[in-house]
Amino acid sequence: MAKNEFAAVRGRLEAERERLHGDIAALDAEDQQPSDDAGIGNHIADDATDVMNRERNAALRNNANELLAHISAALERIDAGTYGICERCGKPINPERLEALPYATHCITCQAEIERER
Ligand SMILES: [Zn+2]
Repeated sequence: MAKNEFAAVRGRLEAERERLHGDIAALDAEDQQPSDDAGIGNHIADDATDVMNRERNAALRNNANELLAHISAALERIDAGTYGICERCGKPINPERLEALPYATHCITCQAEIERER
């Protein structure tokens, strides 16, 4: 992969990382908001909604953290010069695959085999 391509990928990954940090901060802020400001009448419904929101936020936060881990790993691979190389077979990962999934660690052949083994 050419050097300027690495720079472009790094930019994309860093932008994605920024976005995810923003998402997580927004989720944290939402969780910290007082829940019972709706007043009298439907506390039970409010509580249920609150629990659902918290669960949804927790799931979203988990997803975001998982993505962040993938992104950090990809940035490290860029630094190490191993970005775009399949971790399993050592062959270059298809550029179109990297375009769609910039933090992919396996070529499509290995990915298919890994998923079959699961
Ligand atoms: Zn492979």
